[in-house]
Amino acid sequence: MADCLFCRIVKKQIPATVVEETDQTLAFRDINPRAPVHVLVIPKDHIPALMDFRPEHAAILMAVHQTIQKVAEKENVAHSGFRVVVNNGKDSGQAVAHVHYHVLGGRGLNWPPG
Ligand code: AMP
Ligand code: ZN
Repeated sequence: MADCLFCRIVKKQIPATVVEETDQTLAFRDINPRAPVHVLVIPKDHIPALMDFRPEHAAILMAVHQTIQKVAEKENVAHSGFRVVVNNGKDSGQAVAHVHYHVLGGRGLNWPPG
């Protein structure tokens, strides 16, 4: 989508610090990191939110999870542990309407999240 921030990052129209890229996914550093490791993993296809996933997106979902695994290894949190957060909708504070997986780690993380 032309006016979507993360679609523009996918098309390299806006700069981002890319951690991992595949045919179907992109992982890049969050511009406002909340932990020593804070990477966003997105499908390249414009899917607005988690609630929009359908069975035909199964391969994309697997690709996103494989990219999360790769990011965890590259960022050295695969063994120490990390958290994956997907905000969906108003009460979660979802600010960008292109589904994104926050990968957070590099320190002890509080539970429950606020
Ligand atoms: P959410 O609140 O779940 O929608 O998360 C959106 C995230 O995108 C926030 O953590 C922002 O810091 C991050 N963000 C916004 N603009 C950019 C950008 N240009 N590059 C990287 N991360 C961004
Ligand atoms: Zn988009």
